[in-house]
This record gives sequence, structure tokens and C-alpha cells, in this order.
Amino acid sequence: MSKSPSPFPSIDALIRAPETAAPIARFGRAAVADTLRAVLAAHREARRFGLTSLEIVDEAADILARRATVSQRPVFNLTGTVLHTNLGRAPLPPEAAEAAARAYQSATNLEYDLSSGRRGERDDHISGLLRELTGAEAATVVNNNAAAVLLVLNAVALGKEVPVSRGELIEIGGAFRVPDIMSRSGAILREVGTTNRTHPRDYQNAIGPETAALMRVHQANYAIVGFTAAVPTAQLAAIAHGANIPLIEDLGSGSLIDLERWGLPHEPTPRGVLADGADIVTFSGDKLLGGPQAGLIVGRADLLKRINANPLKRALRLDKGRLAALEAVLRLYLDPDRLAQRLPALRLLTRAEADISATAERLLGPMRLAWPDRPISVEACRSQIGSGALPVDVLPSAAVCVGGKGLDALAAGLRVLPRPVIGRIGQDRLWLDCRCLEPAEEGIFVGQLPKPV
Ligand SMILES: *Cc1c(COP(=O)(O)O)cnc(C)c1O
Repeated sequence: MSKSPSPFPSIDALIRAPETAAPIARFGRAAVADTLRAVLAAHREARRFGLTSLEIVDEAADILARRATVSQRPVFNLTGTVLHTNLGRAPLPPEAAEAAARAYQSATNLEYDLSSGRRGERDDHISGLLRELTGAEAATVVNNNAAAVLLVLNAVALGKEVPVSRGELIEIGGAFRVPDIMSRSGAILREVGTTNRTHPRDYQNAIGPETAALMRVHQANYAIVGFTAAVPTAQLAAIAHGANIPLIEDLGSGSLIDLERWGLPHEPTPRGVLADGADIVTFSGDKLLGGPQAGLIVGRADLLKRINANPLKRALRLDKGRLAALEAVLRLYLDPDRLAQRLPALRLLTRAEADISATAERLLGPMRLAWPDRPISVEACRSQIGSGALPVDVLPSAAVCVGGKGLDALAAGLRVLPRPVIGRIGQDRLWLDCRCLEPAEEGIFVGQLPKPV
């Protein structure tokens, strides 16, 4: 008895088919063959017969195209939170993105002194700038602020006690909890005071022969209000220095320039905290500073020397691209008068309400065309700085609000656009806060909206 002919084309025939030439050129012969095999196996299993070779090849090409797409891609952050941790925090200025791209694409003088022709230090590219911008004696940089705190405590307080106020034992975004970082650093947390009130005598009573340093943690993402007391940096520094130990301050967001200059809420600066007597200050590169993810450490030269000699420093250091981006951002700070135009994070935070509503008004028409059955309007709202900067809900802004049924499905539809749009749902509407949609990108936003049928 002769075997009945297979209802599926052979792999060889599919590979030789003219329609397979383009996918092979794009994805490679081996990947196309493997995917065709998988597609055929699935159809055989499901007993789906009668497919043409073109259909089979197209299906394989779709799978390969999806696999070739880069997973991380630009989105429109219309959440109203400017420094959104889940959306990558600060957008970089073009100077910084270009500096990073150049560094990544070639050999650089990362650790090479061009004048002497000898080995150099990778920190040299940024430490001078950081000293100038903060008034610190010395500076270094690591992977992020969590790494900075870990490294500082390990270098300064391994196996020894560090008193911290109970009001400052914070958690930031799940993975960073001050007590956990402290225990991993090898320092021993000595809790002092209470959640709402900590006094100078609480620290004084905690200091003993086993105390290596005092630490203060900036209260990110929440506020203790009402009957409260905290010891200001200057007073805490005096207590630490009286006991001959350093004061470490984790500033979190740490803006290099006082934001009040642009009408934003006051945030302590590394320069101010150092001037008040802190010996080491740590802060993030991608929060208010507006740069790449990084953890900056500035302070006393003798302590920075110990930190730089610590083996964890090597494990936590920055690569050449991020270092180049950070350097470019720090250079923008040398010209504070133009900073609010040139640094995207600051430009978005200081964007005028009228300018944001103008964007929202321009989107209104195209959005009503895309969703003719939904009520759509421009509404006043408030944006947040994000990344733990306080107070929240301070920036007057404007949103395009979309109502109607099935808001979750609407939001999901916006998330699968070529450049996904992320808004927030509240009060039975989808809010698209237009603060972070700058005029130069309005065309991309409008151009990808669903076409009216
Ligand atoms: C954000 C923050 C951190 C963590 O900084 P990353 O750069 O995200 O690692 C630590 N401490 C404080 C007070 C913060 O606000």
C-alpha cells in the first residue's frame, strides 16, 4: 500500500519557495527553517490542512518579526508623574544621549590619561564637575543611589552601629528598604527616636564605642505631619563631630540647584547639606538631577578615599556610556540660566500650564475623530514630580480626559500603539496629562491614533 501524500509542503520546498527569500534575507536561513518547522508542527497537531505555502511562510515571518522587535521602546508618559520610575525616570538631553552613543560605539579614554599616556581613573571625568557643583572635597559615582548607600555604609560602618531615626526607615518602590540595605551593607542599624519625633538626645544616647557614623535619610515619597520633630542636618552634624564620627546623609532625589529658582518646591541640595556639616551625601542621577541612572557620592576626601578603595566600588561602578551621559548632563549645570530649556526633566517640571493646555486643546480634535462615540474634554489636573520628591500634586497641568464605557480596554488599546501611550484612570475617565507631551512630539502622537471608520 502506498503512503498517502502529506497534506503539508516539505520544509525543503518551503525554504526554496520564492516568498521565503525575503524572510531569509531578513532573519537568516536557520531561524526561518526552525520557525517554519514549528509552524508546520502546530498546524499538523491541530489538523489544519489546506494552507498554502504563502500562508505558512507569512505566519513564520510574523513570528520572526515579533521576535526581532526590541522589547524596551519609547512610550508617551501621560501619567502625570514626570520622574516615573516604571517609565525610566528622567529623559536625557540629546547632548547626553549622543555622548553615551559615541562612547558605546568606540574605544574611549575611559581610564586613560591622554596627557601622560598612563592609566587614568574613570571617576576623573565627573569628579571635578561634581566638586564644582556641590562644593565637596571629593566625589565618585556608582550604579544607583541604593548602591551608593550600600557602598558608603560598607566602607564606613562594617560591623559597627549606625543610629537612624525611626521616622526615616523608609521603603522606596518595593526593593529599597533602608533597614534591608543597611543589614546587607554589614552595618548594624540602631533605631532611635519614634516614628514622628526624634530629638538630639535620642542620637546622643545611642552613640557609644560601637558607633561608626550617624545617618540621615531624606523622607522621600511621604511626609510626617502634625506633632513632629526631627533633628536638622546642622545639629546632627554637630552631634556626630562631637563624638568624632561622620554624618552620612542619603538625600534621595538631590537636586543640584535649588528648584525654588523656578518656582518649584524646595528640595535640599547636596551643596546645602554639605555646608550644614554632612560628611558624605548620596543622591540619584536620574531623579531631579535629570541624568542617567547613577548614584552620586560626594563629601570628605578621606572618606571618599576609603570608599574608592572598597572592593564593592568595582562591583557597583558605572560603564563608559552612562558615565559619558552623566558628564554631559553635569556640564549643562555649568550654565544654570539655560538649564530649564536644555535639561528635559527640568523643562517638563517647569512647563507653563498655558503651554500644556495648548497641547491638550490641539489633541482634542484628532482624539474626538478617533473615538467619535466617547465624551472627550480638556480638564485641569495636577502633575507630580515623582521619584519621592515632595509635596505631591503640586504642578498645575492639563489633561485630555476620555470617558465612556470600557476604559480598561481603551487604555489597553493605547498601550499597543506603535509608541504606547500610558495614562491613568480615575473618576470614571482616562486622563492623559499632557505635561510630558512636548509640541515636537505631538505629530507622532496624533499620527498613530486609530483612523475613523
Ligand atoms: C530614590 C531613593 C533611593 C534609591 O535611589 P535609586 O537611585 O533608585 O537607587 C534611596 N534613598 C532615597 C531617600 C531615595 O529617595
